[in-house]
Amino acid sequence: MNGGIDGLVERLGGFMGAGDDYSESSLVIVGAPMDLTVSFRPGTREGPRSIRQASYGLEEYSIDLDRDIREVVFCDAGDVPVLPGSVGESLRRIGRAAAEIMAGGRLPVFLGGEHLISLPVIAEAARFYQDLAVVHLDAHADMRDEYLGERLSHATVMRRVAEIIGGENIFQFGIRSGCKEEIEFARRSGHLYCNQLLEPLAECLPVLEGRPVYVTLDIDVVDPAYAPGTGTAEPGGCSAAEIVKAVHLLGKLNVVGFDLVEVSPVYDPSQRTALLAAKIVREAVLSFKKGAAS
Ligand code: MN
Ligand code: MN
Repeated sequence: MNGGIDGLVERLGGFMGAGDDYSESSLVIVGAPMDLTVSFRPGTREGPRSIRQASYGLEEYSIDLDRDIREVVFCDAGDVPVLPGSVGESLRRIGRAAAEIMAGGRLPVFLGGEHLISLPVIAEAARFYQDLAVVHLDAHADMRDEYLGERLSHATVMRRVAEIIGGENIFQFGIRSGCKEEIEFARRSGHLYCNQLLEPLAECLPVLEGRPVYVTLDIDVVDPAYAPGTGTAEPGGCSAAEIVKAVHLLGKLNVVGFDLVEVSPVYDPSQRTALLAAKIVREAVLSFKKGAAS
């Protein structure tokens, strides 16, 4: 308590509505501003900061869910200090933060950063939750075995995830870009739904029900008209309203972890991408955490 100044000022910094009591929180937001392997245009290191900044422009109340984000006891723990120049060490640090959060039974919400940050988080989730399924929303399959000679890249991240949990446990939606080899691999090994989002997702809900589900959301799944602020934009995606609806559908499942990656605000002076990302995070916090602190 800060005495007389409380109520006269608000302290900004973390995601809107986030408290600062980690021990009481059932959900923890963490930034992972890693930007080391992006192939086309860099800039995702500014993602977490831009999403937090944009969140202050949103209401704390969600009309769709009839809930206020202040009803959820959650915190924004800050950013993992990634190490420029070292992919391996950066991923290890992200994984350690994810393990710490999940060890306490908390739900991690990672803000990227490039998509490769999902790999250590999902790897830890697979250790904590048996029979883990991964829902992957993206314009790209990210199933290349290697990219530019590298096995660790934002273009290979789901291939590495498949090696950990098995391709049959990966459900991909909205995919509309990839090389022939990776699309064939994705079709063969897992559940690949091209172009469409809401319809196949709704159809998969009964299959996923009861299982622990990790959701990884690459903002480029959304059409560049709604989310131009990303490094590898791909025309033909879903609308802003549809991605929010997808989060609501996923809220029917037992979501144990979530990340939102590839926001790159430098390509979007309108800031609509970060604003949409912030809204997605708000709806995710409200959808994935039903009660107060667990
Ligand atoms: Mn993508
Ligand atoms: Mn991706």
